[in-house]
Amino acid sequence: MPPSKNNSIRVCIVGAGLAGAATAYHLSEFPGYAITLLDKERLPGTHSSGRNAAMIRQVVQPAAIAQVALESRVFIESTAGASADFRFDAHGSLLLGSKDELSALTADLSAQGALSDDVRMLNKEELHLEFDPLAGSTHEAALFTPSDGVVDVAGLLEYYIREARNRGVTLSLARTVIDIVREGRRIAGVQTNSGYEPFDYVINAAGPWAGRLGAMAGTTKIPWRPLRRHLFFTGPLKSIDPSLPFIWDIENHWYLRPESGGLLLCACDESEVEPGEPDLDPSVTQLLTEKLTRHVPELGDLPIAKMWSGIRTFAPDRNFVIGWDHEVEGFFWVAGLGGHGVTCSWGVGACAARILRDRANFGDRNFSPSRFYNDCD
Ligand SMILES: Cc1cc2nc3c(=O)[nH]c(=O)nc-3n(C[C@H](O)[C@H](O)[C@H](O)COP(=O)(O)OP(=O)(O)OC[C@H]3O[C@@H](n4cnc5c(N)ncnc54)[C@H](O)[C@@H]3O)c2cc1C
Repeated sequence: MPPSKNNSIRVCIVGAGLAGAATAYHLSEFPGYAITLLDKERLPGTHSSGRNAAMIRQVVQPAAIAQVALESRVFIESTAGASADFRFDAHGSLLLGSKDELSALTADLSAQGALSDDVRMLNKEELHLEFDPLAGSTHEAALFTPSDGVVDVAGLLEYYIREARNRGVTLSLARTVIDIVREGRRIAGVQTNSGYEPFDYVINAAGPWAGRLGAMAGTTKIPWRPLRRHLFFTGPLKSIDPSLPFIWDIENHWYLRPESGGLLLCACDESEVEPGEPDLDPSVTQLLTEKLTRHVPELGDLPIAKMWSGIRTFAPDRNFVIGWDHEVEGFFWVAGLGGHGVTCSWGVGACAARILRDRANFGDRNFSPSRFYNDCD
């Protein structure tokens, strides 16, 4: 066991985005931890967790992530329904694609027990009949998942943090970790812009900065990829039904959903960037127009009132990384949430808290950092 103070294990969670906040929420349910949730910004959720499309999508791959999405959606739906803490609009989702691709996707998830039981396949006629904006589209099939939806991300994040603080977690903002101090192979503490503090565990929930934090601790085996993606908002439009499901074309890579009387749109662009405040690439607007014109002609000529970008951070296999580091004792990863961090945050935090309590295990089989260490099983 690590050294302890006042019988508590001192835990520093670096990053008050969805990954760090959900981990603090779950870990604080267990006795014996003195937890500090720390972020360099003045507000939690300033980066990826504050710049996303807020969609809860359960039909995703790989199946291990779909499983986490399913359990997280149940939490979001029941908590939003039982309290006024945050809103969840379960207007459903439509995944557009070829019949073969969609059938293969549902067969894979179903075989692994990771398919939401309300998912159904719509053929071209049903699709065109039920969903006006798709009347002229070229798609031959869609998967309809009525229990998907859009969540109030700021409210969800605030909920995790408030519950964690009620259970004794210290929230420390405007505090940057500039170094991680070790004694031999073991974590000893963190050096921040406001001084040194000893800790037994450091949890890396630093999103796009996960690689930099790993390097501070002396562990660099995971080649992280922070990928920028743009979102667009049309401003209010006349004929948008606010209860329309979100629509995601997984064949041609674009999505849209109702937002504040207009549409939120994405061309599913990806470009590798440095962690930080991502800049804007105006050429992505053209890419979006081209995709919409080709695949949903009625929507090809929309006004754009606002655009912004954010970073999705991936491990090379695009799977989550949740578990103990193999090289540095007491260093723990909750990173690589990619494009699923809103949907899956609850389950990611639960998984992390389980592994943290169980020192003997490096991590969940699917998400373990051990897959990046050839010399470990
Ligand atoms: C355009 C876009 C659309 C998306 N849409 C969806 C969607 O519809 N549904 C969905 O499920 N997911 C979506 N995502 C993905 C989701 O937003 C992310 O998976 C999630 O927000 C990642 O959370 P995080 O806590 O890992 O990272 P972040 O929110 O970036 O948090 C990391 C935190 O660590 C802090 N930090 C870093 N380094 C230090 C340091 N040295 N010291 C102190 N603090 C530090 C940062 O300040 C930051 O607050 C989208 C992402 C983008 C970019």
